Amino acid sequence: MTRYIFVTGGVASSLGKGIATSALAAILQTRGYKVRIRKFDPYLNVDPGTMSPSQHGEVFVTDDGGETDLDLGHYERFTGVSSQKSDNVTSGQIYQAVIQKERRGDYLGATVQVIPHVTDMIKDYITRNTEDLDFMICEIGGTVGDIEGLPFIEAIRQLGNEFGKNQVLHIYLTLLPYIPSAGELKTKPTQHAVKELLNLGIQPDILLCRSDRPFDEGTRSKIALFCNVPIQNVIAALDVDTIYSVPTRYHQEGFDRQVLKHFGLPNDEKPNMAQWDSIVAKIRNPKETIRIAIVGKYTSHLDSYKSLIEALTHGGIANETRVDLEWIESDRLERVSPRLLLAGADGILIPGGFGERGANGKMIAIQYARENKIPLFGICFGLQMAMVEAARNLLGLKNAGTTEFGPCEDPIVGLMTEWQKDGATEKRHAEGLMGGTMRLGAYPCQIQPGTLAHRVYGETLIHERHRHRYEVNIAYREALEKVGLIFSGMSPDGKLPEIIEYKDHPWFIAVQFHPELKSRPFAPHPLFTSFVKAALIQKRNIVYTTHEGQKECQTA
Ligand code: GLN
Repeated sequence: MTRYIFVTGGVASSLGKGIATSALAAILQTRGYKVRIRKFDPYLNVDPGTMSPSQHGEVFVTDDGGETDLDLGHYERFTGVSSQKSDNVTSGQIYQAVIQKERRGDYLGATVQVIPHVTDMIKDYITRNTEDLDFMICEIGGTVGDIEGLPFIEAIRQLGNEFGKNQVLHIYLTLLPYIPSAGELKTKPTQHAVKELLNLGIQPDILLCRSDRPFDEGTRSKIALFCNVPIQNVIAALDVDTIYSVPTRYHQEGFDRQVLKHFGLPNDEKPNMAQWDSIVAKIRNPKETIRIAIVGKYTSHLDSYKSLIEALTHGGIANETRVDLEWIESDRLERVSPRLLLAGADGILIPGGFGERGANGKMIAIQYARENKIPLFGICFGLQMAMVEAARNLLGLKNAGTTEFGPCEDPIVGLMTEWQKDGATEKRHAEGLMGGTMRLGAYPCQIQPGTLAHRVYGETLIHERHRHRYEVNIAYREALEKVGLIFSGMSPDGKLPEIIEYKDHPWFIAVQFHPELKSRPFAPHPLFTSFVKAALIQKRNIVYTTHEGQKECQTA
């Protein structure tokens, strides 16, 4: 029997529902259960692919080409289960499906309404392909009470009623704010948030209470009394230093035991959390520290780089090293010397990005890393800028560029209008739709033996996830190879450069795909492990001297 767990949130947004959901799934997995997580987002966009990273954060791409909410990245990292496009459902998708059905005449003359037609569609998306699971955990995005979220809350209320208590559990994540003048954590916002949920017909079974300090038994029993939940089901969710300690913390608070109790499942035996404890210990006790400069455009919205930050942490875990990140807004490099801005970096990373602003700054950083032999890791747009930088500065093609910024004399990077996927031809044109039309999802890449990329991966055929509209133009390949570039990874048909590196550089790798999306704490991505290692080596070789009050570096 598949059991359904619904995770909703009240009081405030950004309380960490995604991590809480992932952590619960991870503990249930260590207990041997088969779990899957889905995210339901009440906004009207069909997917977050068309949203600005500064509004919505990172767009997480699945193997099957879904552009999804960044919480799916947490789900994958915590459970090791690869998500699918269908694991992120939005109101946009639900309404699109309902309207298509209506246009086909499938409603047989009925007046199409939110209840039952929209709620039926939501229930269908929740319960689809769940037969082989022990637990289907559904996170409902937004905060309970939001107008656009109402059909989702109604749908899960109905499912609770249809399946019954032994098959459905409602978890509600709330906040206990600390009021300094009173010197205590306040329960009233939680009481009101629970009332809000009750108004919509749902009595939460478990309350997960976020707070920045522990609460006492008095507070716990007050919450239990006013919110009508058993006292053992008021679970403390304290702030932690690393998200990877959350599964063990929640387990210590009795979270998984109460979940299993609710379903009448055995809960006496303790799960083995050793694997989690060991990565947390590695994060907390690093042997060394390195500093990576990330030259990007959304540096004031770090949610835009969620998977990247995690992948660097994983690379650090693999090397027992703490990775300190220095965020550099790329257009600053157009005004301030890279010697000043990048002097303290043991490695430089150019992440994915869109649009012209800041592109020159990225190329300045790339040139600096290339010339000074500092480890450089370019991702997607980072690879495209590395190619343009090489064309401009090594081939002397001053007007080399990418057609993403408009027509140019030497289009080193251009709009891709046709490519192969699973044996079929995918076609696009410049005036086509924006949503869901990039090169998306997992594609194979053939690695040339004997290259750095080959040493890093240890294999010659890899699959990595893509999300981009433009591609490197292979017409310039030969010329670029003559000046030291190596095309170490190509699409199997040999048309699309996927990985490039330099002959005379200790570690310069740029990739057209997004390796950060596949990195996991228990399986750090080889490129991140290797990049952190290269930065460690760089750090050991470098001596810092102060020259006229400025930081300079020289190779020892
Ligand atoms: N803007 C570039 C493109 O669309 C790169 C995208 C990215 O870095 N994800 O091709």
